[in-house]
Order: sequence, then C-alpha cells, then structure tokens
Amino acid sequence: NADADFELIGKNEVLPIYIPREKYSHKGTYGHSLIIGGSYGKIGAVQLATKACLKSGSGLVTAFVPKCGYLPLQVNIPEAMVLTDTNEKQLTDIQFDIEPSVIGIGIGMGKAKASVKALEDLLNRIQVPMVLDADALNILAENKALLKKLPAKSVLTPHPKELERLVGSWKDDFEKLEKAKTFSNEYDCILVIKGANTITVYQNKGYVNSTGNPGMATGGTGDVLTGLIAGLMAQGYQPLEASIFGVYLHGCAGDIMLNNTGYQSLLASDVINGIGPAYMDLF
Ligand code: AMP
Ligand code: MG
Repeated sequence: NADADFELIGKNEVLPIYIPREKYSHKGTYGHSLIIGGSYGKIGAVQLATKACLKSGSGLVTAFVPKCGYLPLQVNIPEAMVLTDTNEKQLTDIQFDIEPSVIGIGIGMGKAKASVKALEDLLNRIQVPMVLDADALNILAENKALLKKLPAKSVLTPHPKELERLVGSWKDDFEKLEKAKTFSNEYDCILVIKGANTITVYQNKGYVNSTGNPGMATGGTGDVLTGLIAGLMAQGYQPLEASIFGVYLHGCAGDIMLNNTGYQSLLASDVINGIGPAYMDLF
C-alpha cells in the first residue's frame, strides 16, 4: 500500500523504477560519476565503489583519491579515470576539472583534520547530487553545521553505528525510525539505514528492502552500495528511486552470488560481480 508509512520493496516495486537502456544512446547518456575517498591503507574501498559504479551502468566513472591510490585504481579498474589529491596519503584539497552528474563521497577517507576541511570546502563550492557514506557521515556527525550545506535530496547511507552518530541513540526500532524521519525532514535528505533489512527513509515514509543475506556482513559491501546508488543517479534515477533500487539490486546481487560462495566466503567483490546477474534477474 503506497500510502502506508512503510512499503516492502520486492521485484514488483522496483520494476516500475527501472529505466531501460536506449538503443541510440551513448556513454554521455548515462552520466559521469565521481567517486571521492580513500586514504593510505583504505584505497580498496574506493576501488570497490568505483567498480560497482561502473557495473551499475554509469556512462563514465572518475575516482578522486590521494596520490597513493593512483596506481591501484589505474591497474585494477582500467575502465575508470583517476584524479588525485596533492597529498600522498589523505584527501586535503578536492579539486577537479570535470562536471560530474553525481558525487559519491566518504568511503575510506578517514577523518584527518585536512580531510574534514576538504569536505567542508567541497560542500561550500559544489551543489552536485551526492551520496555520502562512511567517514563523510562521521565528519557530518561531528560537524553538524555541515548538514545544512548538503545539496537537496542528498543520499546518506549509514550503518547502525554511523546512524547513531548522526541522530543520537534510540531505545527501540520505533524510536530509531522516528529519529530518522525527523532527520530526513530537517535536512531534506534520504537516509539509507543499512542492515539485514535495509530501510530507506525519506520524509515520513520507510521503504523496507527484501533482498540480501548475512553473507553480506563483510568488509566492503557498504562501499559497493555507495558506488551502485551513485551510478544509478548518474543515469537519471532520482535520489529516492536510486536508493530504493540500488539497495534492492545490491541485496539481489549478494543472493545470486551466494550459490557460488556460501555465506562465509561471499566477498564485497562477489557482490560487484552479482550486479549484472541482478539486473538480468529483473526480467
Ligand atoms: P557497511 O557496514 O557500510 O560495510 O555496509 C554493510 C552492507 O552489507 C549494507 O549494505 C548492509 O545492508 C549489508 N548487510 C550487512 N549485514 C547484513 C545482513 N545480516 N543481511 C543482509 N545484508 C547485510
Ligand atoms: Mg561502510
């Protein structure tokens, strides 16, 4: 029931969201995503998000990383373009000469003082649709004034700990969701509350995902989701639809790959390889 406070999201609910690929289209039709993140020892997070973004169908994908991320990204993901910070190990100044359709930011970026400053500076300069995850959320939680600078309808993808930092603690699920709704209304953002049944909250409504499995409780799967949602937005999906559909595809990708890996051996990279089969499973 579309008027209820909550809607369960399965295949029937995402099919009307799906945008088919046009025969006479080209890579420019499907947008240019910019994935920003990484720090020394956490470049893998950006690789996962970048690859997932490509697999989602984004026409072009550029990664922006500290200098130490240049080689791994170029070698491991030849389809992606790479821009680098002036700093070797962390983000300090996020300058780029491209015009991205969407920005996915925060994965693996750490909370170094210079990186906090870099995020603040970016939010002051840029009003591109955004997906914010991981340390970008932790930085926002510690600098609440920045929340007012987010572009309208930004997508925030917290796991429970990150959500708690953003909205404060709760005594039960009911209170958690009330706090999420209040937060979404106050900052006009979409909150993707990740977990076993990820709930996407926008204004006063929650969309409860039905796909996914506990094999996905492993490092890097959240980074994959960030790239996937950003890539959908690049292709023209509105932020709420991109969030609902991205969460569905991500869980479905994990479910399909489970047949090859079992719960214990499912890795974030496997989820990336399941994105294509998840699209194929729609029809
Ligand atoms: P993160 O904690 O940022 O790496 O995100 C973890 C990702 O894995 C999120 O998309 C979660 O929804 C998903 N995930 C984690 N645990 C489970 C679970 N038990 N069942 C289904 N999905 C899960
Ligand atoms: Mg995460």
